[in-house]
Amino acid sequence: MTKYVYRFGGGVNDGEVAGIGGDKNLLGGKGANLDGMAAIGLPVPPGFTITTEMCTRYYADGETYPESLNAEVAAGIAHIEGVTGKRFGNAADPLLVSVRSGARVSMPGMMDTVLNLGLNDETVEGLAATSGDARFAWDSYRRFIQMYSDVVLGLDHAAFEEALEVAKEDAGFTLDTEMSANDWQALVAEYKALVQKQWGKPFPQDVHEQLWGAIGAVFGSWQAERAKVYRRLNGIPGDWGTAVNVQAMVFGNMGETSATGVAFTRDPATGENAYYGEYLINAQGEDVVAGIRTPQYLTKAARERAGAKPLSMEEAMPETYAELARVFQILETHYRDMQDIEFTVQQGKLWMLQTRSGKRTAKAALKIAVDMATEGLISEEEAVARVDPAALDQLLHPTLDPKAPRDVLTKGLPASPGAASGQIVFDAENAERLNELGEAVILVRIETSPEDIHGMHAAKGILTARGGMTSHAAVVARGMGRPCVSGAGGIAIDMEAQLLKVGGRALKAGDIITIDGGTGEVMAGEVPTVQPELAGDFGTLMIWADKVRRLKVRANAETPLDCKTAREFGAEGVGLCRTEHMFFDAARITAVRQMILAETEKGRREALAKLLPEQRADFTAIFIEMAGLPVTIRLLDPPLHEFLPHGDGEFAEVAEAAGVSIELLKRRAAELHEFNPMLGHRGCRLGVTYPEIYEMQARAIFEAAIAVAEQSGEAPIPEVMIPLVATKRELELMKAVVDAAAQAVFADKGRTIDYLVGTMIELPRAALMAGEIAEVGAFFSFGTNDLTQTTIGISRDDAGRFLTSYVDKGIFARDPFVSLDVEGVGQLIQLAAERGRATRPDVKLGICGEHGGDPASIDFCEKTGLDYVSASPYRVPIARLAAAQAALAARSK
Ligand code: PEP
Ligand code: MG
Repeated sequence: MTKYVYRFGGGVNDGEVAGIGGDKNLLGGKGANLDGMAAIGLPVPPGFTITTEMCTRYYADGETYPESLNAEVAAGIAHIEGVTGKRFGNAADPLLVSVRSGARVSMPGMMDTVLNLGLNDETVEGLAATSGDARFAWDSYRRFIQMYSDVVLGLDHAAFEEALEVAKEDAGFTLDTEMSANDWQALVAEYKALVQKQWGKPFPQDVHEQLWGAIGAVFGSWQAERAKVYRRLNGIPGDWGTAVNVQAMVFGNMGETSATGVAFTRDPATGENAYYGEYLINAQGEDVVAGIRTPQYLTKAARERAGAKPLSMEEAMPETYAELARVFQILETHYRDMQDIEFTVQQGKLWMLQTRSGKRTAKAALKIAVDMATEGLISEEEAVARVDPAALDQLLHPTLDPKAPRDVLTKGLPASPGAASGQIVFDAENAERLNELGEAVILVRIETSPEDIHGMHAAKGILTARGGMTSHAAVVARGMGRPCVSGAGGIAIDMEAQLLKVGGRALKAGDIITIDGGTGEVMAGEVPTVQPELAGDFGTLMIWADKVRRLKVRANAETPLDCKTAREFGAEGVGLCRTEHMFFDAARITAVRQMILAETEKGRREALAKLLPEQRADFTAIFIEMAGLPVTIRLLDPPLHEFLPHGDGEFAEVAEAAGVSIELLKRRAAELHEFNPMLGHRGCRLGVTYPEIYEMQARAIFEAAIAVAEQSGEAPIPEVMIPLVATKRELELMKAVVDAAAQAVFADKGRTIDYLVGTMIELPRAALMAGEIAEVGAFFSFGTNDLTQTTIGISRDDAGRFLTSYVDKGIFARDPFVSLDVEGVGQLIQLAAERGRATRPDVKLGICGEHGGDPASIDFCEKTGLDYVSASPYRVPIARLAAAQAALAARSK
């Protein structure tokens, strides 16, 4: 029989005994680490974990539990009763528990906590008696009803908050702490009435019913909309399931010797090796996270740096703080990573409620990985494996120009680094809508909740009026890599008037603001930015990554500036220079149009002669930037009609340049209309019908290469690439055009240079016929954008409209245009690589579709033995790190 419940604490560790103590897949992250902390003797309240396997089975069995679960849960409760000496549902000395969800990775999209479960009209009296504090007991009960009604019963939580506000107002109080036992008791009665009214049934008094309700809510939250959205955004599979953790309650709100807090063993924003955290005296955990009260600093140094008055925990509770610091050390050494910890102090006694590897900014991730390797806690290779390549994105983007003038409105907490400017929006829906229209927006909220996630994702930055460094907004923004300023107490938000009020000024929705998540500053208008610093920890980690990676990393670049950026980021060549973008240049578009609309070869050649010097100049500039490195230049690819004139003015310009009538041009333009241009007259098909276009481009490439070789003494290595090849014969014909151009230029200039002619593999037929194609082509570059489109038969331009449903429904784990469909499209790549190499063992293999910058796809490229990946310039460092991680993963197999 499958075991679904694992106990921990009080000297019992089922997970350890079963050898799965640290198994996050089965126990969830929270459960595995509670078990782990208990096993190394840290003070953890006793409890039990219901496995993620149970969650999966629950859904497989139509949302029902197996018979055996009852007895297992009962044994779990008995374990907690045994350790605490309290009994669940006992009126005299009741056991109270917390119920929390815990998936393999932490998921802010899910229900996380019900506290004080086990309270009812009878046990509340017992709690009052045993604690000697009726006020505390009734406060706990009202918190429980409020939380349970919200997360388990799904009732409108605003009504509960309003009832509390009204109660305080009637009594003339401003703070919760002013409420007496009687006040809380009266509020409990109101809450129960609210439940009866909204739910149609009385609040459950049976503690077992309460417990099963909470367990069901945790499992239910796995399939809640916001959890699905979170999974989709973070690439988390739907079949992982969540675990449920049931644990004895400990109380941080039992007076002045009690406290609750969250802490990081190193600074999660900067990575500095200093304890970092917040705590509140006489409070329950959710008070810290929810930003209801402003938390105090953990350490004296942090308090002093912030110029804050309220005592730090180090000062207010020196002994408990010292014990906590000792626990931090033990945890970092044990888990060999920076830890994010939740703790509670109940009447002077420290309890650990959670530890996990802490979320951190990219900057902190880098610093922590490099520091830990330098400290000898981990190896250089582990440091390389630790940093999420995608998170580097945060570091590679511009920050505010320090010299630019700033109209600072106010300052909040620097919750997630990076700078962003955009229009003010006050809700997630508008953020999403405007983002889709291509507008940059800053989402401004009093505080965020999981319902806002899609809007946070759509926004360039997030600004909140309330909440600390560990508030929802801060944690989620850091995870997403969005700049965020939280807790900007100086702003007031008037939702109705859609106004942001700050320091006597009022900004409307749509006004531009800038936030700096590194300093917490909020500014009016747009502030210019500067490029990031790539030395320091970033440089060190990249050196370590380069030591282990096998795959070369090139860039997709078509301007000298792109090439320069790519080189600074460490690109080892250009993997794709798309020449069509050069054709759109304002100075030459008329000649391009003349060429396209010409009816004869002679007419085309006339126009091409005007373009030749321009193309030569393009390639010369690129070769200079990429001196000594290979540059893959792709000949013209898109359907010609993309370059057609729009409107009479443009037609008139072309008519004049070509010396023909507008009518003739319009007729010719109509002839170029295609029903399905993606599958039409494009790629090498253009070269087959109009070889003079490719001839001109090849000539420009070789003339530029020789010119640069003569100027600099260092010959570039052009790799001329033919797009959209389906057959060997196409490539033969096009290679002949390129070779002839090369010979003509070499004869003309009296010198030669080395070059290669190869092809893109972006059609299934090309992949299948790769053996034959390799007889002609010296290299293959997998154009996985088109290969994905043509293999799946989904138009890359139209997929956006429906692919999210495909990902939501689990048809694809991730968007196949973003992350390679390894099992489908991947097969064609594998097969083409094998067949190509069988014919030509040294055929050079690369990838230049968008997937070349996606870590999961890069892992596949490593496994398939490609020679290089090519990614957009800003993704080059990501690709370098991902390639190193892929090499490490391959080695560990
Ligand atoms: C591709 O198809 O993957 C490719 C790189 O070419 P393009 O995106 O220009 O079609
Ligand atoms: Mg393509």
